[in-house]
Amino acid sequence: MKRVTVFGATGSVGQSALDLIGRDPEFYDVVALTGGRNVAQLAKDAVRFKSDVAITCYDDMAAELRDLLFGTGIKVASGDAAIAEAATRPADWTLSAIVGAAGLVPGLTALQQGNTLALANKESLVTAGPLLMQTAADHGATILPVDSEHSAIFQGLVGEDMAAVERIIITASGGAFRDWPLEKLATATLAQASSHPNWDMGQRITIDSASMFNKAMELVETKEFFGIDPAKIEVLVHRESLVHALVGFTDGALMAHVGPPDMRHAIGYALHWPDRGHVPVERLDLAKVGQLSFEAPDHTRFPALDLAADVMRTGGLSGAVFNAAKESALDGFIDGRIGFLDMSRVVAATIDKISASEGLQKAQIVLDDVLEIDALARVRADEVMRNIG
Ligand code: NDP
Ligand code: MG
Repeated sequence: MKRVTVFGATGSVGQSALDLIGRDPEFYDVVALTGGRNVAQLAKDAVRFKSDVAITCYDDMAAELRDLLFGTGIKVASGDAAIAEAATRPADWTLSAIVGAAGLVPGLTALQQGNTLALANKESLVTAGPLLMQTAADHGATILPVDSEHSAIFQGLVGEDMAAVERIIITASGGAFRDWPLEKLATATLAQASSHPNWDMGQRITIDSASMFNKAMELVETKEFFGIDPAKIEVLVHRESLVHALVGFTDGALMAHVGPPDMRHAIGYALHWPDRGHVPVERLDLAKVGQLSFEAPDHTRFPALDLAADVMRTGGLSGAVFNAAKESALDGFIDGRIGFLDMSRVVAATIDKISASEGLQKAQIVLDDVLEIDALARVRADEVMRNIG
């Protein structure tokens, strides 16, 4: 029996993971499931999977969750501390599928137990990559990437020597606005940005795909996870979302990972790793697909990519500022306080403000500094947005 914990179980990635686990229930022992507002789903899954504990991150949702689970024997808790506590419960496999920087502390706590952490929560790698990687190394823990591009790279590197890697290419669908001219992007609405051409995902990452902030985050994620020189990482727009990433070697070979746009593939790879299990994704009929297209990304329409390049160059705490400013700007766009193109302006202005007042280049980063700069970046981003609005 594999003991599993799912952080963010009620979300898009969390539900895909539970779909896989639910197909072979006899192999899994569910330790903890966590969610947020969707306590109805959380309670349903906690009962279905006989989870030891069910936790909502919101204290004001605890009573409802308790009512739903009354008499089941399933322990109920709420709040960030309870989620972090759940990460200390012995587990063989923990999925970090919370959205946002809130995923950082639970993920770090799981690594401190020496656990295997399947990481969908890219924000934690962008915010505190060196800290996460060092914590894993110090505790003999394993991080398995779940973001589809990073799972693809990881699979392309099995049995390879990093010294022979010349470049890494991550693909981007281009998001909802890949064909929109710059003038039209300024008018993009929340509904338009919330619909993805290929992937069915949570709302926040869907909007980040439309702005290419998702790809920007993934550039930083690639640098932090694989420890590769940022100059060797490229982005390629690939509309079909079938090739997820390519690894280029010193002999000129390019190894591509091809699969349908279904997160159960990357989650399933991490769930069965180091073996390959049976994963019920669609089998591609390449004759039917016919053609695959590739094009260079447009940095003028999608300035988030250049912001990521700056962040990778600066390192230290700049990823934490970048992520927090991006989360605040995304909140601002969702609430209607700023327009679509303002998001990258807010992030750039916030990074400028903070790098002028604080030293972001740090040899070593510690959690307290990360949390402090994350909070400061959110305050500064709100100030910037007040001036725009
Ligand atoms: P969703 O918004 O669908 O789900 C997020 C999950 O986190 C939900 O369970 C939600 O609870 C919970 N949650 C929200 N806020 C908090 C908080 N402050 N503290 C604790 N839990 C919280 O997101 P996705 O599943 O789309 O994405 C999850 C992560 O995976 C993100 O980091 C994303 O970038 C990454 N990812 C997602 C992909 C996808 O296909 N969706 C692909 C690659 C990476 P509730 O809904 O109950 O409120
Ligand atoms: Mg991805």
